[in-house]
Amino acid sequence: MDRIRLVNSTRQLDSGQLYSGMIRLHVLHHAAKEEIFGLGIIEELARHGYKLSPGTLYPILHGLEHEGLLRCYERCLAGKIRRMYRATAVGQRVLMAAKEKVRELFGELFEDETRTHLAGTRRRVAKVQARKLAIAKRC
Ligand SMILES: [Zn+2]
Repeated sequence: MDRIRLVNSTRQLDSGQLYSGMIRLHVLHHAAKEEIFGLGIIEELARHGYKLSPGTLYPILHGLEHEGLLRCYERCLAGKIRRMYRATAVGQRVLMAAKEKVRELFGELFEDETRTHLAGTRRRVAKVQARKLAIAKRC
């Protein structure tokens, strides 16, 4: 099982499998935008609140490469050979299809929050407009 845990979580999530697909998708997303390397993507995922060890991340990168979604090549940076990854054309297409599926499946998770947020925004806008109108009437 993947050892993916939230940085601020006090216990390791035993639901790592729940997040592993999202992590893979996020790695593919970044590899589609730019070339990535292991340590850089570990830092990026930490920024999002996911702490992965190299022992967890590298099998993910190798798995994506094995599936033909990432292509690996070596680049010499500051005298060190670094393994870089980019999404392949297949990886780009898989990502596009996955984004549609995520939008469909995950959108529903946030429907109520979005509705509440929009209602709050409309109330605030209405208050500001009412205040401006009251000030205009006084002048
Ligand atoms: Zn990111």
